[in-house]
Amino acid sequence: MTRDLENAILPTVSPVFLASLDYLRETILYKTRRDVLRLNVGFLLKENVGYSRKMDFEVPLLEIADDLDIANFRGAVNLTRTQPGIYVHGRLKGEHPAECVRCLTEFSQTLTAEIKQLYDFPPDPSSEFAVSEAGFLNLAPITRELMLLSVPMRALCRADCKGLCPNCGQNWNEGPCDCKTEDINPQFAVLKNLLNK
Ligand SMILES: [Zn+2]
Ligand SMILES: [Zn+2]
Repeated sequence: MTRDLENAILPTVSPVFLASLDYLRETILYKTRRDVLRLNVGFLLKENVGYSRKMDFEVPLLEIADDLDIANFRGAVNLTRTQPGIYVHGRLKGEHPAECVRCLTEFSQTLTAEIKQLYDFPPDPSSEFAVSEAGFLNLAPITRELMLLSVPMRALCRADCKGLCPNCGQNWNEGPCDCKTEDINPQFAVLKNLLNK
């Protein structure tokens, strides 16, 4: 793990943010506890090696951890019985607010957890990923970790975000300002001089 996930700081999912997501506007929102990611796989442990079961998720607002709520949480995982345990393979994703580094506007960012993980059974005390003796497999910790890792270092509201005018603060995505670009962008000024020669 290259980034210190315990120190990762993300903005919280606010009512304003949720209202900005069209598909949630009409939904009465209640937060679903992370328990939906704690799967009872006891039935799978009784199956033969190679037996597989798909699990779908669709949750309007899911608390994955104390520090991570995800809106429109969705996706599916395949759980396959293998000799050493249960192999989990799938993709889970959802929306989380972010602030654009160029224009400082809040926008909805999709975080993804691409899971490919073997959960040992019987559980080995030294293993971080294991099915409990009672037959439960908890996907919340790995989903949190992978989603935090999928957060881009430089969040952009869109690839071609024009940013803010450093002079007057106008959001250039909403239109140009009256400042003279020569005054504020020395690189263009140099280019212009070269072209004039
Ligand atoms: Zn932006
Ligand atoms: Zn300006």
